[in-house]
Amino acid sequence: MTEMVRLYDTLARAVTDLVPENDGGLRMYSCGPTVYRYAHIGNLRTFMMADLIRRAFEYQGIPVRQIQNITDVGHMTDDEFDTGEDKMLVAAGLEGKTPMEIAGYYTKVFFDDVRAINIQEAAEYPRATEYIPQMIEIIAKLIERGHAYAVDGGVYFHVQSFPAYGALSGNTLDQLQSGHRSVIDDPNKRHHADFLLWRPAGERRAMRWGSPWGDGFPGWHIECSAMSIALLGESFDLHTGGEDNVFPHHEDEIAQSEGAVGRPVVRHWVHGAHLLSEGRKMAKSANNFYDLRDLAERGHSDPLAARLLFLQSRYRAQMNFTLDALGAAERTLERWRRLIAEWTRKPGETIGDLVDKYEERFLTSLNDDLDTPQLVALVAEVVSTDALAPKDKSALLLRWDKVLGLDLSRQTGAVREIPSAAHELIEQREKARAKKDYSTADRIRHKILSLGIEVEDTPEGPKPRWVR
Ligand code: AMP
Ligand code: ZN
Repeated sequence: MTEMVRLYDTLARAVTDLVPENDGGLRMYSCGPTVYRYAHIGNLRTFMMADLIRRAFEYQGIPVRQIQNITDVGHMTDDEFDTGEDKMLVAAGLEGKTPMEIAGYYTKVFFDDVRAINIQEAAEYPRATEYIPQMIEIIAKLIERGHAYAVDGGVYFHVQSFPAYGALSGNTLDQLQSGHRSVIDDPNKRHHADFLLWRPAGERRAMRWGSPWGDGFPGWHIECSAMSIALLGESFDLHTGGEDNVFPHHEDEIAQSEGAVGRPVVRHWVHGAHLLSEGRKMAKSANNFYDLRDLAERGHSDPLAARLLFLQSRYRAQMNFTLDALGAAERTLERWRRLIAEWTRKPGETIGDLVDKYEERFLTSLNDDLDTPQLVALVAEVVSTDALAPKDKSALLLRWDKVLGLDLSRQTGAVREIPSAAHELIEQREKARAKKDYSTADRIRHKILSLGIEVEDTPEGPKPRWVR
């Protein structure tokens, strides 16, 4: 019997077999970060879910081509009604930088963070600002096909032109009526749920592009339609995101992509449930968030402890984050690593039947809608059982680590790499020092310190070291 990865498909509203359409493997698109701030660990939990799906396939010999976008324009401060200001410009104003400087810095830190939590690198990371022509092309096609209309320098998607609107989220047009009535609205809209594909530039000076409808910038949703189709084609297997992406982001993406192409584009949709903190969705706006630097500051310097903690809940169950639970996961992980190191050093034993049985149980739970709590329980069982030889235990656990990504072979106290964002800041600080601009140099030193790294100036140059 060939086992299949099964996952909960939001559109089908059921756990379904995920069989790639092409022999070449699974093609997946994962909604990525908006790079105006440090990603919090809730964001990382959603990115890690996509990584786990990918590892589940790769573990079973199926290659995966994963694309993850970087949103560097057009994501507005009010997600639900897609109104307010562009998050990138707000951050640029607050930090006294250009939006591209903001994007460059937070993209770099995002790469450091995902690496630190053992999320495998995607095949490509398209930036929204690099795909404006493709977005304009899709918008023009939507107008041509009667799905969109231009008004006052903007372009709206007309939801009534797409009968399946609401199929993903269950938000039918009548239901939306009441919700939308409360927001101040553009009288030019044909329907209150119509949403912007292209936004007029208005007063903004940065991040604006020419288009057939005038200078402007893209809406957040059209970005993912354009980048996914450009890099994965007009039909691909899987699209992932957090549960807050279901509406409006993914509902709108379906309407745009299918409206432009004329048939279904995404075969399966999988969404990760929110990480909560103090019982509410972890969010920058709620000020109840932690990022990896916050955790390091509180003495939790191994991001893989957070990875183990996330594995203890299934991806589609909300979980409440606490520092106590993180501390417990950290101790468990250290203990496992220490034991595995001991067992690996013990003289050899052969791999017996029982090992195959454990492997079978591992695959069954993995394929059963990523039952990671069961996988963690299985690891604990293997760690404590006397029925397996020590060498067998370590071999089995190290193999499973290809899915778990916990660096179980790491010797405790191993050297941690200095991330590239820190190296870049150190370079900037050196430049400021060379110009005798000591106040800038000092400001940068504090920024480096907020990453948990102290710089010592030695005759051979700056020497970074972890302080947390
Ligand atoms: P953003 O950088 O705001 O565009 O968000 C990146 C990803 O994180 C999106 O897929 C969101 O759905 C997801 N996300 C946001 N908040 C949380 C949370 N508290 N828990 C899990 N995922 C989240
Ligand atoms: Zn997206």
